[in-house]
Amino acid sequence: MANIIDGKLVSARLREEIKAEAQALAAAGRAPGLAVILVGEDPASQVYVKNKEKGCDEVGFYSEKYFLAEDTEESELLALIEKLNKDPKIDGILVQSPVPKHIDYKKVVDTIDPSKDVDAFSPVNVGKIMLGEYDLAPCTPAGVMELIASTGTDISGKNCVVIGRSNIVGKPMSMLLLHANGTVTVCHSKTANLKEVTRNADILVAAVGKADFVTADMIKPGAVVIDVGMNRNAEGKLTGDVAFAEVEKVASYITPVPGGVGPMTITMLLKNTLTARKLHT
Ligand code: NAP
Repeated sequence: MANIIDGKLVSARLREEIKAEAQALAAAGRAPGLAVILVGEDPASQVYVKNKEKGCDEVGFYSEKYFLAEDTEESELLALIEKLNKDPKIDGILVQSPVPKHIDYKKVVDTIDPSKDVDAFSPVNVGKIMLGEYDLAPCTPAGVMELIASTGTDISGKNCVVIGRSNIVGKPMSMLLLHANGTVTVCHSKTANLKEVTRNADILVAAVGKADFVTADMIKPGAVVIDVGMNRNAEGKLTGDVAFAEVEKVASYITPVPGGVGPMTITMLLKNTLTARKLHT
């Protein structure tokens, strides 16, 4: 039976470290500051924004939140970002996605000062990640790296397989594993013989968005299995991409859903805000 990787525990430990550094920075003059902007009334986004604010309070960050109406003009949102770019109290700016259809999200991301882009979505930060010269790490993949590290697994020389090639998870995930000297294969919907590829993985990261997609016969015995997926099943229950009950019998380490990758993402956002604060001294 696999060991369960406890994302809540890893996340709590990291938040303690972040809090200690934030306290030292506050004592030295200024705590890290995060501004979160939500346009519209999407209920799931409202929960995410509240959790981000809660996270800031927990680690002693200064935070501001902006709730803008659904029909806010794009120019008004961009003007707010420009104002926050110049605000010395603010180290990180996050615009909760999705934004309403009349707003060009790409323009929004391009307007955020790259040193305050704590999601690391801007072309400048994506380029830096590609080069391996980044300060701000993409939150979900960076959280996965922390979870792998918590198992004591050395990534160097290992076969790492990422299922999914999205800009926010799969692609940056593969880059972080590559920078850690993993031998990385990225799979997607056109990959032939997926099972043959995944059965070679010492470390498998699933970011597909399909419940129970990864089954036991796809797993190399003893593999570390990280489940990024967040799906709702027919009963509305949160499930991952990995068929947990059968895969835990084959893997050496596995993340549960919920309680695995999920708790790490906001923590890595806080870590990026702390890093951005250090860039702004
Ligand atoms: P996405 O943009 O929909 O990407 C899904 C990827 O899976 C695509 O690259 C797609 O391939 C690939 N795929 C789809 N069907 C496949 C198949 N049959 N075989 C192999 N690959 C297949 O999703 P995402 O934004 O990366 O998110 C992935 C999952 O992670 C979702 O469940 C999302 O909710 C979750 N997520 C969780 C967190 C967290 O904090 N825990 C954060 C972000 C995302 P193509 O490129 O060929 O279409």
